Amino acid sequence: MSILNYNQIAFLKSANSKAGLPNDSGAEVAFGGRSNAGKSSALNKITGIHRLARTSKTPGRTQLINFFQLADPEKRLVDLPGYGYAKVPDSIKKHWQTIVSQYLTERKSLKGLILLMDIRHPLKAQDWQMIEWSLAHQLPTHILLTKADKLGRGAARNTLLMLKKELLGYEEFISSQLFSMLSGEGIVEVQEKLDEWLQAEHA
Ligand code: GDP
Repeated sequence: MSILNYNQIAFLKSANSKAGLPNDSGAEVAFGGRSNAGKSSALNKITGIHRLARTSKTPGRTQLINFFQLADPEKRLVDLPGYGYAKVPDSIKKHWQTIVSQYLTERKSLKGLILLMDIRHPLKAQDWQMIEWSLAHQLPTHILLTKADKLGRGAARNTLLMLKKELLGYEEFISSQLFSMLSGEGIVEVQEKLDEWLQAEHA
């Protein structure tokens, strides 16, 4: 069971630049991944609130960093813009790279990154880029292999084992699990990870 109540959550603000970020106090966890990795579905499932991720998908907000606050306003979940979408112009990709890399490397209240990857397409080049930014700043990262229901049990477990093998040596900072919003697999596990990161300051 999770300790924090993830369905008491509300949209706080969107940011498109360093200046637009909310106060860097308290604790927050960011969610990142390629577009279509299942980030919105995962956020909806973890919080139990269906309109939540719709907020991030509102036209004009998909390229922004979207902040949501829990009942304790000093605890936040953060939806990063999805990457890897071929049709996005280079200028926007560059801007995205700048604000996300700055955010990941400079934000003091950021306690961890949930990195989502479709289990059928894990560890693409931009996923590695995210992992490199995290490792460079020792930001704890937890990978969700999403849509685990799309593979059979054995194949899903094998993919998770392969991922862990690829990341051998980084266990101190990187953990991983299977996730499916359809079957419900892995929801409690990721909530417990969020609890751990968001509560750590009080430990
Ligand atoms: P986002 O772009 O990362 O926010 O991805 P979405 O949450 O919008 O999901 C992309 C597509 O994958 C949608 O068609 C979802 O219905 C589908 N999807 C997301 N999670 C799952 C899952 O756990 N299982 C299955 N089978 N499909 C999923």
